[in-house]
Amino acid sequence: MAIFIPPLVLGVLGLILGIVIYFVGKYFGVQEDTRIDVIESMLPRYNCGACGYGGCRDMAHGLLAKESLVGACKPIKADAKEALTKALEEMFKAESVPVSH
Ligand code: SF4
Repeated sequence: MAIFIPPLVLGVLGLILGIVIYFVGKYFGVQEDTRIDVIESMLPRYNCGACGYGGCRDMAHGLLAKESLVGACKPIKADAKEALTKALEEMFKAESVPVSH
């Protein structure tokens, strides 16, 4: 009977820690801007670093923060560059619209 005690204790401990981690993640987790995913999906996703960032996701952060330009991405194709530029313009335009009451 004593052989079941350690797995039972570890199981209960794992369950309790799992619940704690769930709630810590829920209340203290950082919500990332969903536009980052959209921008990243429009970049070539080669993660080559030619833009000066560590990868396409970092470049997406840079574009959204207006710290970089789409042209900094060297391998992006012309049509994708145009589409991304338009998408960014729409995002920035939406940002500047004041929230009505
Ligand atoms: S240059 Fe373009 S493809 Fe390369 S990491 Fe930067 S955003 Fe990604």
